[in-house]
Amino acid sequence: MSKYWSSLVSELQPYVPGEQPKMANLIKLNTNENPFGPSPKVISAIKSELNDNLRLYPDPEGHALKEAIASYYIDFGIEENQVFVGNGSDEVLAHIFQGLLKQDKPILFPDITYSFYPVYCGLYKVESNIIPLTESFEINPDDYKRDNGGVIFPNPNAPTGRYMGLQHVQAIVEANLDSVVVVDEAYIDFGGETAIRLVNQYPNLVVCQTLSKARSLAGLRVGFAVANAELIEGLNRVKDSFNSYPLDRLALAGAVAAFEDRQWFEDSCNGVIREREKVTKGLEKLGFEVLPSKANFVFARHPEHKGADVAAELREQGIIVRHFNKPRISEFLRITIGTSDQNNALIKALDFL
Ligand SMILES: *Cc1c(COP(=O)(O)O)cnc(C)c1O
Repeated sequence: MSKYWSSLVSELQPYVPGEQPKMANLIKLNTNENPFGPSPKVISAIKSELNDNLRLYPDPEGHALKEAIASYYIDFGIEENQVFVGNGSDEVLAHIFQGLLKQDKPILFPDITYSFYPVYCGLYKVESNIIPLTESFEINPDDYKRDNGGVIFPNPNAPTGRYMGLQHVQAIVEANLDSVVVVDEAYIDFGGETAIRLVNQYPNLVVCQTLSKARSLAGLRVGFAVANAELIEGLNRVKDSFNSYPLDRLALAGAVAAFEDRQWFEDSCNGVIREREKVTKGLEKLGFEVLPSKANFVFARHPEHKGADVAAELREQGIIVRHFNKPRISEFLRITIGTSDQNNALIKALDFL
């Protein structure tokens, strides 16, 4: 506390990121990073940007990256002016909250979801109506047919991993033509179908994605949104009132290369999916209930062991997973899918159960 703080700062309840421990040899399954690493083409693209040009500002619009994203989604008719890029999708989401979701009416999002949403509500003074997930931890589209100033949810949802088919996403978008519906697709490439294919049908749909998970670039900080050009213009107005250069030269070069190397990306996603099935089976054999996941993590609870206890025991054995001490989910663990060896070590470490 300081008397020099603004009243807003005193009230903030900031997001608490998953731990990034410095200990060596730790098996880190707590923040949904991709174990397979970025494409070697990304690394060489970044290396070739390491030169005297760093004295120059980067392209404030990030044209090359927007072009790469538009051409990746060319089948859905996406054009460059329908793409917004930012410093991680967290920044993109922040601008979306301030520029599109801050309205007179409260916005809707699930009770169990990405915990940054309530934080942005606090930062930007956005009112919210929290909608409980069903008993089986699913989003029920019918619950999103009430008056609102906007809607936001991840698909697949985090931290449950549960995925909702595109027809259900479409039903939510269609039921809310007077407000913006944001689909946060941080994990969509691990087996889901992107709502980007619906963007040209609905002027109120924003799809947000990140390069942190499927493209294994959490350290580079690149995220993007795809929407109707007018919504994107709104986001550009916010961005240019905040930071004109959110993506540096290295990030832009690396991100473009990541979209160009499709083979690496597909192999990496398939590897995660394969390992996810293996981890799910292994956990089920040990008696865990595992929610169906289309993300690069699973959400699981054991009927006879406390979530916090299992997490603590795993930590003793050098494996960290995420435990949320929150209503409805305090018995669950969110376990990121690691390499084959890491996943085997996880299942072996749970032998004590
Ligand atoms: C990881 C994650 C993000 C943030 O991604 P960054 O691009 O790394 O900021 C956004 N939404 C959800 C649901 C996530 O899990």
